[in-house]
Amino acid sequence: MRIPAPIIVGAGPAGAAAAMRLARAGAAPLLIDRQTVPGDALCGGFLSWATIAQIEALGIETAALGGHRVDRLALFAGGQEIVLPLPAAGMGLSRHRLDTMLRAAAQEAGVTFRLGRAVRTLTPGTITLDDGDAIDWDSLFLATGKHDLRGAARPRGGADPELGLRLRLPSSPARRRLIGSRIELHWIDGGYVGLLLQEDGSANLCMAVRKSALAAAGGRPIALIARLADLSPALADRLGAVPDDAQVDAIGDVPYGWRATTSWPGLYRLGDQAAVIPSLAGEGIGIALASAAAAVARWQGEGRDGAVRYQRDFSRRAMLPLRAAAGFRALGRSPGLLRLLTATPGAARLAMRLTRIADA
Ligand SMILES: Cc1cc2nc3c(=O)[nH]c(=O)nc-3n(C[C@H](O)[C@H](O)[C@H](O)COP(=O)(O)OP(=O)(O)OC[C@H]3O[C@@H](n4cnc5c(N)ncnc54)[C@H](O)[C@@H]3O)c2cc1C
Repeated sequence: MRIPAPIIVGAGPAGAAAAMRLARAGAAPLLIDRQTVPGDALCGGFLSWATIAQIEALGIETAALGGHRVDRLALFAGGQEIVLPLPAAGMGLSRHRLDTMLRAAAQEAGVTFRLGRAVRTLTPGTITLDDGDAIDWDSLFLATGKHDLRGAARPRGGADPELGLRLRLPSSPARRRLIGSRIELHWIDGGYVGLLLQEDGSANLCMAVRKSALAAAGGRPIALIARLADLSPALADRLGAVPDDAQVDAIGDVPYGWRATTSWPGLYRLGDQAAVIPSLAGEGIGIALASAAAAVARWQGEGRDGAVRYQRDFSRRAMLPLRAAAGFRALGRSPGLLRLLTATPGAARLAMRLTRIADA
């Protein structure tokens, strides 16, 4: 089957935003996602002030999302707690809620969906679905996020790859009091733990950690979390009693810092398939939305021929936030330096600005 209209694979923030923009521009995009109903993607759930502005720019009223207001950043490193105001309020929102709202807006814009179908392979010109259906494409927007397609996989591996883990904690008076309107970042050996409250009062605990740390806990995420709580009284206070059988979601081998610098004719890589920012910056969704806007603008002007130039330009645009986020992450290993930075007027604000994707 040949479909000359643009095809988008993946209906997360990047894919849904691109589909919406394409439909509003008069194209007749087809959006494919393996999930019939949006799940609750493994994510910290922090929408920064800049990401909120991007969602508003899509014509979505963010007050209607009902997220939990976040106006301060609390950093825990080397036994210190440093609290900083955010430049403007962000929000804690589950990915289920965000992705559902974005899909609804795409549907309203006239996007055609093909849901419950996973794309298995991608070659220049053809995708193959899990039901064996092969679709030829002229322009393809690749937005499968954390998941790679055969034929277009990002480089992985490394001696000790990084993993993402997530645990949802039910609403409790203690967590509401301790976390309140803050996003918390707790530096741990080889990674961090992020915590915030979401729209329903539950807390989302998300962490990036080396595989070796999980192996040292016998490969059991819940044992790793218990070990981290033993080392940090602040984390222990927030976790309370976590049942041994609590469900921890995991994603393996996150290629933090990777950027797509080139592409194939017609292939526009978006979101995590374009650039993977260290997640403690809370800017992955912002990058997903910015890549969708940039890719669609280029496609409107240059069609399939613009893909390679878009990819090169977007990778340059993403370089600064990715590097700034990597530097910020490294600071947690030098708590003295972190305190100095945060005590310097303007420096913390600058760090928060540099980790955002700049306007095109
Ligand atoms: C531990 C951790 C914490 C994070 N915390 C934050 C945070 O607090 N704030 C923030 O802004 N960012 C955060 N991020 C980053 C953020 O989650 C990603 O950058 C963002 O989700 C990327 O959006 P996306 O649309 O590219 O991909 P995704 O959100 O991953 O969406 C991909 C979509 O593609 C679909 N899909 C996948 N494979 C296929 C296939 N083969 N066929 C069809 N469909 C497919 C999926 O079902 C999904 O709907 C975090 C990341 C990690 C790892």
